[in-house]
Amino acid sequence: MGTLVRAIAQEGGAVCYAIDSTDIVAEAERIHETSAVVTAALGRLITAASLMGAMLKGEEDSLTLRITADGPIGSVIAAADAEGNVKGYAQNSVVEIPLKSNGKLDVSGALGKNGHLYVIRDSGAGEPYVGLVPLRSGEVAEDIAGYFADSEQVPTVCALGVLVGPDLTVQAAGGYILQLLPGAAEEEISAVEAAAAAMPPVTSLLAGGADAGELARRALAGLDPEILDSRPVEYRCACTRERVERALISLGPRELEAMAREDGQAEVSCHFCRRQYRFSKSEILDLAKRNGG
Ligand SMILES: [Zn+2]
Repeated sequence: MGTLVRAIAQEGGAVCYAIDSTDIVAEAERIHETSAVVTAALGRLITAASLMGAMLKGEEDSLTLRITADGPIGSVIAAADAEGNVKGYAQNSVVEIPLKSNGKLDVSGALGKNGHLYVIRDSGAGEPYVGLVPLRSGEVAEDIAGYFADSEQVPTVCALGVLVGPDLTVQAAGGYILQLLPGAAEEEISAVEAAAAAMPPVTSLLAGGADAGELARRALAGLDPEILDSRPVEYRCACTRERVERALISLGPRELEAMAREDGQAEVSCHFCRRQYRFSKSEILDLAKRNGG
């Protein structure tokens, strides 16, 4: 279980969402068997998606983040519900590239610097909202902050971190998104800037025993922060056999009949949780009929 908190400055000028996503990113690594740099890239995006999911207004709302750029990882996708429960995957789970000169995992080298961040919000009714911005750095946190600044005109501080051990396990993961609210006072803006400048890396804090609340209190240092709520969040995929059936039916009867004839069966694997769904020849033909074939 991860923990996600929401905190606000005493005077109301800034709000902060912070998360310890260590368990969530560890689960993503376990499911997808990612290499270290992919664990870091996917883990950062999953962490951001959870935070932005928790910022959604409606209970039924959902949010998807996608980065598609020119790096070897291909696209990386993370999707969250309005509670902050999240799932994700990378197009290529195993990418091996050299560390950066400072010894850190080269996330922007894996993702690429030339590409876009897509933000898709779906309320479950009507067309989803799709926003996109060019990547600023391919390091994810700056790209998320850039999205809020460019697309929503909300001054935002974002920090994300994933610490991968030598044995490829996730030792710490987390982050925060801090936003200035309309009418923030000059002193509040200065305090937020000073706190951001003084903030140690998120993974150092978490590895040193800090929790999500501590991240939020540090991000809002000097502003008498108050933790409004704290909730458990997890890696969660809600795929079901019924949903997979609907996806198969949407292929159309011809495609399904060809599948039954040529393959004699179908195996569908969920991108997010890698659960396998198997369909026999007669089951595929039944699905073809349900589409009027
Ligand atoms: Zn699934």
